[in-house]
Amino acid sequence: MARYIFITGGVVSSLGKGLMAASLAALLQARGYKVRIRKFDPYLNVDPGTMSPYQHGEVYVTDDGAETDLDLGHYERFTGVSAKQADNVTSGRIYQQIIARERRGDYLGATVQVVPHVTDAIKEFALADQGDHDFILCEFGGTVGDIEGLPFMEAIRQLRNELEPHRTLSVHVTLVPYIKAAGELKTKPTQHSVRELASLGIQPDILLCRAEHPIPDSDRRKIAQFCNVRPEAVIPALDAPSIYTVPLQYHAEGLDREVLRGFGITDAPEPDLARWDDVVERFNHPEGEVTIGVVGKYVGLPDAYKSLNEALVHGGMAHRVKVNIQWLDAELFEGADGDIASRLEPMHGILVPGGFGERGSEGKIASVRFARERGVPFFGICLGMQMACIEGARAAGFEHASSTEFGPTHEPVVGIITEWMSKEGLQKREASGDLGGTMRLGAYEAKLAGNSRVSSVYGGATSISERHRHRYEVNGAYVAPLEKDGLIFSGMSPDGLLPEIVERPDHPWFVGVQFHPELKSKPFDPHPLFAGFIGAALDQARLV
Ligand code: GLN
Repeated sequence: MARYIFITGGVVSSLGKGLMAASLAALLQARGYKVRIRKFDPYLNVDPGTMSPYQHGEVYVTDDGAETDLDLGHYERFTGVSAKQADNVTSGRIYQQIIARERRGDYLGATVQVVPHVTDAIKEFALADQGDHDFILCEFGGTVGDIEGLPFMEAIRQLRNELEPHRTLSVHVTLVPYIKAAGELKTKPTQHSVRELASLGIQPDILLCRAEHPIPDSDRRKIAQFCNVRPEAVIPALDAPSIYTVPLQYHAEGLDREVLRGFGITDAPEPDLARWDDVVERFNHPEGEVTIGVVGKYVGLPDAYKSLNEALVHGGMAHRVKVNIQWLDAELFEGADGDIASRLEPMHGILVPGGFGERGSEGKIASVRFARERGVPFFGICLGMQMACIEGARAAGFEHASSTEFGPTHEPVVGIITEWMSKEGLQKREASGDLGGTMRLGAYEAKLAGNSRVSSVYGGATSISERHRHRYEVNGAYVAPLEKDGLIFSGMSPDGLLPEIVERPDHPWFVGVQFHPELKSKPFDPHPLFAGFIGAALDQARLV
């Protein structure tokens, strides 16, 4: 039976609970345990799919087609365990289910209430699908004391009571701020946060204290005394030079040991951290560097491209090079004064990432043209691949080539798709249907052409599976004319109808993919497309 670790946050948001959960899971995994991580989000959206990246950062897509919180990306990157729809739930999804049941009459005349109906649904979700996992880590979004988080705290309280002793553990992540004028760390916010949590009936077992300065033993003892935990269970979590050092850092502070002790496990094997030592070694000792220009729309907020950022870093680790990422606003490249050459000339590689809407699209197309004409390694992802096809079509004489996403066009090189085949059978959509959860989502297979660049990038594979999240597709009617002009469609859906990958054989490295490879890259297993792209950028850097 799985043991449960409940992770809550206190004092302020943005403490990095997701990273903490991922790191703890990685440490338990390194000791040979089977782990799974789940995220509970108190907001009322059914999923983050319809939220702007500025609201919520990246939307992370799972193999089974769920649009989830970006923390699930950390979980997958740190543990290699594929996340599922069943690993992320929001208040919105829970209420949606409860209200649907109420309308069906499933509650047999009862009054439907937060306690017990909402709390039961939260518990059900936590307890579902335990498989043969040793530990299920449940991370709760928001900060203790938030009104919308209360049903979740109540569900934790009940679970702690209902499951056998030694089957649950509460880890509370807090902040120990440094007051410069006084030259002191302050423990009071942690004390208040624990008091708040305790008032909801949850006594934490372990406190993970985020701090910018080392926490002296005297403060650790003080926190322990006031918060009713052992001093060894007050774990300092200092700012890390890189997210990849966090598991090693927490291990050195005794986090995994204390967690196991909390469950009464004293004979656990020592963790095998070789994988993390190697990742940190590669990250800390690069033997060169490359600069990649990412031409996008949400460049003001790095969280909007979280997985992309990490996948580029992984690509660098594969070659032992540091990847400097220049986030470039595509709109800068539009209009007569769009000074594209001076901004893109210093780049060893150009990447146009996924995105939605027309804004910045002409700047993205201009960046593709620059990369194609100058022979600079180019990588287009999802919208970036669509832009590469539109650019190719315009170069091939289809002057008005565009996407129907941007409005009506006579040359729809990219168009909305209303029917496609999935593992579950034929999918159908209305062009004017709901926006939430209706895209082509999750893992789909693509067949690769032999002798193509991508087939060799994927180690000679003829079939791959990658994750999708898009409503539009490159129009099959343009495949033949574009191929005649040198843009080769080297990956197609198994039925041969949907273009999945394009490349230019006459270019040092020009690849566009309709899927999101960044979602599957891991620090210890860099995605081959990112490794290939950074390798090409490295060749480019040697040239200039
Ligand atoms: N907006 C495009 C579509 O819906 C691309 C989406 C994406 O880049 N994720 O097809």
